[in-house]
Amino acid sequence: MKKFKFAFKKFFLFQDKYPAFYYKKRMVIFCYGKFITLSKRSKCQIKFPKLIIKSKKFVPEEPIITFITTKRCSMRCIYCSVRGGESSIDLSFDNAKFLIDKVCYPNQKIKKLHVIFFGGEPTLSIRLIENLIFYINSKKIPADYSLSTNGILSKIVIDFLKMHNFVVNLSFDGLPSIQNYLRPLANGGKSYAIVENTIREFVKRKIIFKVRTTITNNSINQMLPFLKRLEHLGVKTIHFEPLNICGRASDDEKGNLKLPALSYYPTI
Ligand code: SF4
Repeated sequence: MKKFKFAFKKFFLFQDKYPAFYYKKRMVIFCYGKFITLSKRSKCQIKFPKLIIKSKKFVPEEPIITFITTKRCSMRCIYCSVRGGESSIDLSFDNAKFLIDKVCYPNQKIKKLHVIFFGGEPTLSIRLIENLIFYINSKKIPADYSLSTNGILSKIVIDFLKMHNFVVNLSFDGLPSIQNYLRPLANGGKSYAIVENTIREFVKRKIIFKVRTTITNNSINQMLPFLKRLEHLGVKTIHFEPLNICGRASDDEKGNLKLPALSYYPTI
């Protein structure tokens, strides 16, 4: 226990992403679900997916894989942390399959694989998602699926989510004046009515979902009527999240995008 205390005091981020610390003159990095060590002088760059290959012993019984399936997006949220829609990079099936094979290798005892799809707007790559589900099924691995979406979904996609028992994380920021301002469509159009309609479809089809609401200093005062509206629509779970000042939010030269004032946070 003492050793861990010592180690975590020196905790830092390697390559700005991987939690790491020095122990006995070696750097220990937590990466892709396992600890690896590098000598202090090593200039090793962690490159996906080389490290996965040696990680068999460390794959847990219920691994979680998150696929960022595309950077494309049907919205242009003014605060988007991943700059959705600014590039059209898609994850290839071969790369995704490679990762599944490395996590779920033969004789690995996996109780359940948890698969998360993220973007951009992941449903724009629904064919890839479908192929990955087929592939996972073909390996006879029990799996569950979740996905984050902006709610601009066709009925076919909603049927698909229902068919595969997806748990959905639906981003929706407020009543029309807020939602349409913060989360416009890619063509500049209004998104509120479309997303509200998606919620109605989710409720009708008993899809398990939660609404995720990003809160800014301007929108926080209007959350109460929004909550009432969500309740009226049949939403059961809501997740409020303060704005993250990164991505497009950090481009906001006029300073309109701000975190809720500290006075709004509960005091302990
Ligand atoms: S829907 Fe998501 S990925 Fe697309 S622009 Fe908005 S925040 Fe970004």
